Amino acid sequence: MTGTPAPTAPLFERMALVGIGLIGSSLARAARRHGLVREIVCSARSQTTCDKALELGLVERASTDSAAIVEDADLVVLCTPVGTYADIAAAIAPRLRAGAVVTDVGSVKQAVLRDVGPHLPDGVHLVPGHPVAGTEHSGPESGFAELFEGRWCILTPPAGTNAEAVRRVAELWTRVGSNVEMMEASHHDRVLAITSHLPHLIAYTIVGTATDLEASTQSEVIKFSAGGFRDFTRIAASDPEMWRDIFLNNREAVLEIIQRFTEDLTMLQRAIRWGEGDVLEDLFTRTRAIRRGIIQAKQA
Ligand code: NAP
Repeated sequence: MTGTPAPTAPLFERMALVGIGLIGSSLARAARRHGLVREIVCSARSQTTCDKALELGLVERASTDSAAIVEDADLVVLCTPVGTYADIAAAIAPRLRAGAVVTDVGSVKQAVLRDVGPHLPDGVHLVPGHPVAGTEHSGPESGFAELFEGRWCILTPPAGTNAEAVRRVAELWTRVGSNVEMMEASHHDRVLAITSHLPHLIAYTIVGTATDLEASTQSEVIKFSAGGFRDFTRIAASDPEMWRDIFLNNREAVLEIIQRFTEDLTMLQRAIRWGEGDVLEDLFTRTRAIRRGIIQAKQA
C-alpha cells in the first residue's frame, strides 16, 4: 500500500524547555515538525523571551518560573548556560514528576553530573546530552528546525542510568536528524576542549588583540578582514555568557590543551625565526588533509 505513512505516537507527552534560546527553540521547532512531543512548555529568565517564544508559536505556555513549568513534564531539557544548572536543578527538583527524564544540551558534560545529578530525586532519570551543532546567534528567533540534521549528538549517561530513558533521549535526537554517540563525560570534555573550546579561545584572543590596537590600525583590520580575520570574528561573536560558563566549567581539559597549543605555537615561532620552511610546509600539508577529511565526513 502506498500513501502517507501512519503518524507515529509522540515520544513524550510534555517537553519542558528550561531556557529557549538558539538551541531550545531549534529543538522545539524540530520536535514539533516531527511530531515527537504532544505539548511544549518553556521557561526563560526574562518575560521578554517568554513573550517571544509564545509569539513565535514555539510553546503552549511560557513562564519565568522554571520550577512551575517542569510540573507534569515527562521530559525536561535544560537549555541555559551551564553555569546556571546547579541553581536551576535545586529549584526544579521538588516539582519533577516520578519517572521524568531530565536531559540537557550543554557544551560541557562533567559539570552536569556534578551540578544537576545530586539534586534529582530517586526515580527521575538524568541523561546528559550535547548536540554538536550551533551558530554564533542567540535567542528564540535565531533557531531553526534543521539545525541538528546530519550533526552529532553526544550522550553521556553515567553507568547505571535507566536504559529506557537513554533509549528515548537517543531516539529524540535521531528523529530530529542527528547521529547519536555515547561517551564518558570526561572523554567528551577532553574531545570538545580541542575541537570547540580552544578554537573559540583563539578567536576571542585574536579579535581581542586587534581591538587593543590603536584606532588607525583598527579601521584597516575591518577593511582587510577578508584575509582570515573575518572568520575569527564570526566565532568571537558567540554568546559571552555561554562561553564564560564553558571555560569555567571545563577548566582542567581546557588548561591542558592550552599548554599543548602554547608549545606547538612556540615550535612554529622557532621555525619562522630560523627559516625552517620545511617545518612550516610539513605542518600546513598535514592540516590541509584534516580539512579535506571534514569535508568528506560532511561536517564542513
Ligand atoms: P541562548 O540563545 O543565549 O539562550 C539561553 C536561554 O537560557 C535564554 O532563553 C535565557 O533566557 C535562558 N536563561 C538564562 N539563564 C536562565 C535562568 N537562570 N533560568 C531560566 N532561563 C535562563 O543560548 P543557546 O545558544 O541556546 O545555548 C544554550 C545551551 O546550549 C548552553 O548550555 C550551551 O552551552 C549549549 N550549546 C550551545 C550551542 C551554540 O552554538 N549556541 C551549541 C551546542 C550547545 P533570557 O533570554 O530571558 O535571558
